[in-house]
Amino acid sequence: MDNRLSGSLERAGYTVTQESKARYLRGMLNIGFYPNRMLADFYFLRHEYMLRLLSSAALRKGNAYIVKELRQLAQPADAILEFLNQLVKLVERQIIQRGYRLECDECSLEWWYPLRELDNDRIRCVGCQHYIFLPLELDFAYRLNPLIALGINNGALTIFLAALALESGRHYFYDFCAVVRKGTLITDIDLLLRKEGRLCLVECKDNLPEEAALHDQLAKLAIIAQETDADAYLATLADAVPDSILAFATEQRIQVLTRQQLLQP
Ligand SMILES: [Zn+2]
Repeated sequence: MDNRLSGSLERAGYTVTQESKARYLRGMLNIGFYPNRMLADFYFLRHEYMLRLLSSAALRKGNAYIVKELRQLAQPADAILEFLNQLVKLVERQIIQRGYRLECDECSLEWWYPLRELDNDRIRCVGCQHYIFLPLELDFAYRLNPLIALGINNGALTIFLAALALESGRHYFYDFCAVVRKGTLITDIDLLLRKEGRLCLVECKDNLPEEAALHDQLAKLAIIAQETDADAYLATLADAVPDSILAFATEQRIQVLTRQQLLQP
């Protein structure tokens, strides 16, 4: 981890390591031929319909859908054109991948095949290895890039939205998923960032866990923030944050970024 992020923690006596899921998240930013780690490419997450689409358990499991089905998952309401335009960009960027859902005539295996598997007008069955000829008419079926699915399953939606919400100006550095240890205190910090010289430590939760467990985690975050003179945040995509959690966070000097604030900072 960049020592502009870990330095203050290490000077306060903490050891900082990184969880392997940090690589999934960095990898998500690096998809494509010209990796540039652009968080700004993920502004599309601020649309409720995109969050609904990407939160779909079936899509995250690797199921493939035709456009009409993606629309049903996303429910863009009156923003259909906007949704379709976003979808084109996500397909261009390989965040969503284009292919075909096909059933093999020989072995009946149903599978999703990316376009590149197409060999003229046939595709080799991933199971029995016989060729499947494309039917006369067939809709494209779209699947979530597996790295994106893995990242989302590891909290990327809240983490990226929090990073975007806190982003400001020049001199902005960030990284993900640190494990911070000192003596008996061990905790993970989902997002670390430095903006205009100030270190920010952010606990990110797609859904809020059981309250006692959350309080325990926030109390640890508060200690670390105090010892490193950092700002501490709790960011969550939960629909509502109970008053008791808001009160506890205030008491611990932790700022809360709610779903609404993550979507419209
Ligand atoms: Zn087959």
